Amino acid sequence: MGCVILVNPNKLFQASEATPLLDDNRDDVADDANKQEKRPSHLRELALFAWALVATAAIVVIAVWTQHQAQTARGSRSDKRNLIFMVSDGMGPASLSLTRSFRQYVEGLPEDDTLTLDKHFWGTSRTRSSNSLVTDSAAGATAFSCGLKSYNGAISILPGEYEPCGTVLEAAKRAGYHTGLVVTTDITDATPACFASHVVMRVLNDDIALQEIGEGVLGRVVDLMLGGGRCHFLANSTEGSCRMDDVDVAGIAQEKYGWTYADDREGFDALKGGEDVTLPVLGLFARNDIPFELDRRNMADVYPSLSEMTKTALRALEKATEKSDKGFFLMIEASRIDHAGHINDPAAQVREVLEYDKAFQAVLDFLHDSKTEGILVATSDHETGGLATALR
Ligand SMILES: [Zn+2]
Repeated sequence: MGCVILVNPNKLFQASEATPLLDDNRDDVADDANKQEKRPSHLRELALFAWALVATAAIVVIAVWTQHQAQTARGSRSDKRNLIFMVSDGMGPASLSLTRSFRQYVEGLPEDDTLTLDKHFWGTSRTRSSNSLVTDSAAGATAFSCGLKSYNGAISILPGEYEPCGTVLEAAKRAGYHTGLVVTTDITDATPACFASHVVMRVLNDDIALQEIGEGVLGRVVDLMLGGGRCHFLANSTEGSCRMDDVDVAGIAQEKYGWTYADDREGFDALKGGEDVTLPVLGLFARNDIPFELDRRNMADVYPSLSEMTKTALRALEKATEKSDKGFFLMIEASRIDHAGHINDPAAQVREVLEYDKAFQAVLDFLHDSKTEGILVATSDHETGGLATALR
């Protein structure tokens, strides 16, 4: 609430006239008053009135200024928000249960010990796509990004007329927010693709890569991309490419759209945990997937982890929006819980979930310490591999 000061000019006038009267000199005072009454007093009254008017105007100006300042300050605080959206791709309830029990067992923790994820568990969602009882990551992420159901394989394209749907990331960018995507698989894979590109089938990685750097109809909508899938950004005449064409997407990204490009662990370390990042930044640290955490932990000098990339992205976006009255939107995906499920590899799966739990905690810590208000929304799209943790 702003404050309003009301001033009555008559009160000021009366206060300035108030004179203490004593009994023993009442007559003298009365005489003086009579004499004064006889003198022309209009000049004195005019002066007092003018003084009261000026004082009132000054107070009104101060009141209005104070109110304006309060409203401006309040506006900038309440309008600025950060939204972090996390996806544990392919993580069903059994995956969470197995990981919780695994950690209790290997770390000798009590059987009521829980994961960070458990402490923030809110509810469940029904997931099915427009053409299948089991949604895939593409239809799942189209539902997350556009808020609309589509067919399996759709990258933010709707069934029927195959029209693209606007995504939350595109809307955030248009509203002046900074935007980011962090994954452990190809950055062109279904989940990240659904936030920043539109193609009829998820296999069209070559097109997705081009749209993600800024070649889509909306231009560049992403400010930060960290993950794998480097091969989709290299011309097929280049070693390590998996493109069908000879388009040097990483080159176009840098030359046409000004992306800072990092393609190895050294490049990631140069970002200094987000302290030294020039946006837009494209960090592709693996040809395709970043290895399962089970393996990556022994190759930490080659590949950054999900939690490392998460912290770097959060800090980079926080710095980039420091002087802005808008915050950022960041999507973080633990992409490979899904892959471990598909290949029925519980050893890999529990480590993927544990790393996701760690990244989740990193986001909570960020939100706790950040001066900007923020919200974390986390969900899964589907379950893969049919993992069960039941008695047979
Ligand atoms: Zn998925």
